[in-house]
Amino acid sequence: MIVFHTFISVSIQQKGSIKIDYCLYCDTEYKSNISKHYISMHSEEDEVVYILAIPKKSKRRKHLLKKLQNEGNFKHNTKVSYFSIQ
Ligand SMILES: [Zn+2]
Repeated sequence: MIVFHTFISVSIQQKGSIKIDYCLYCDTEYKSNISKHYISMHSEEDEVVYILAIPKKSKRRKHLLKKLQNEGNFKHNTKVSYFSIQ
């Protein structure tokens, strides 16, 4: 049931042409590059500190920023699902 609701919220999010990303730390929504938000606003978080130590434009840095982006969206979708069940 929880998986079903998560799937629905992801589908709604992808309906529009603009992809919206949600911040893992402050749950704010972003329509543009969320990586810049993580670097400028959450540079003291453990994950971001680790990413900042990796050279710019490296594959690993891009991969970890993408992972952070996915985790933020997953956290948001999971929360939405939880409240939609109530
Ligand atoms: Zn944030």
